[in-house]
Amino acid sequence: MNKDLTELIEVSRLYGKDKTFVIAGGGNTSFKDESHIWVKASGVALETIEENGFVCLSRAKLKIVSTKTYSHDATEREAEVKADLANAIVSEGNNRPSVETSMHEIINYQFVVHTHPTKVNALMCSNNAENACRELFGDQSLFIPYTDPGYILFKKVETEIALFTTKFGKAPQIIFLENHGVFVAANSVSEINDLYTSIIEKINQKIKEALPADDSKSFESPIIEHIQELHPGFKTFAAMGIESTLIHHFAKDHNSFKKANIAFTPDDIVYCKAHYLFLPAIANDQEQIESAKIHINGYVNTYGYLPKVLVPEGGGIIAVEDSIKSVLNVLEVYSNILKISFLSENFGGPKFMTKAQIEFIDNWEVENYRRKMAKS
Ligand SMILES: [Zn+2]
Repeated sequence: MNKDLTELIEVSRLYGKDKTFVIAGGGNTSFKDESHIWVKASGVALETIEENGFVCLSRAKLKIVSTKTYSHDATEREAEVKADLANAIVSEGNNRPSVETSMHEIINYQFVVHTHPTKVNALMCSNNAENACRELFGDQSLFIPYTDPGYILFKKVETEIALFTTKFGKAPQIIFLENHGVFVAANSVSEINDLYTSIIEKINQKIKEALPADDSKSFESPIIEHIQELHPGFKTFAAMGIESTLIHHFAKDHNSFKKANIAFTPDDIVYCKAHYLFLPAIANDQEQIESAKIHINGYVNTYGYLPKVLVPEGGGIIAVEDSIKSVLNVLEVYSNILKISFLSENFGGPKFMTKAQIEFIDNWEVENYRRKMAKS
């Protein structure tokens, strides 16, 4: 294996195993030379990635995605782009390249490490994201307002990189994506690390109230014991609950919960769905179960799918999914949503995804593929 790929694997694992950077297997990395790019395969975890976890693609063939005119229909267009990505693959095997491959290609540095760090997203998922970004990073970074992922986001980033490059005489090394995360790029891994360190330091300077200490422990509730009776769709499902000082902060009443009741990022939707269900406190166990049934039914009628996150008033958070592995992912991702919401108060408070943005993700085949991979 060449030295650059060894470095790519090292930097991927470094960020992949750090829960403050990569939550539930999100994020992706790449290395490129003149003719080829190696990008993390979709559904592969950075934490334990090996050489075969990367897909090698021809850069000449990938450039087609920049120049070609695609269908106006979102579903058709994404299928066409996907086919062009598949055509560019040089490596063996059935791995599918990351959905963000085209974006890696147009970033004009050899190493690209894309993550969704909690602190970066506290800034990216806040009402003052753009202004705070300008204040903290000035002309050092590029800020991209929320754009539907896939081809549209790629074209937006491509245009903005070109404008930035013309203006400053060099391509941006830090690209912030609102309600998503950050791309950090450099020609060496050590520079990537320096850039990430400086990003987190600058955000830290603005955080007035730190997150409560992580004192999470198991949460018991009759809702968990009776989960399979609460809705026919839960018949074979698993449920688990946790509580902590941070969780109590949001679960204590309905108004507090409204600061964490909708997804911040496309990844949140992939794991937890877009809406989270608050269950008002009821002292009697039997009545609480009956009330939960009614609330879950109402949720299913409104959104057309089962809730994955239940938040009983004054309690903890409960994740419901079809396997223990998925339950743990939901708990991890939703806990991260709470952290982001809490820290976003330093930047004007939480800014959730909108109804239209959520609908786009719900209908996106590529994300459905990731959902499936995350479960396997
Ligand atoms: Zn991402």
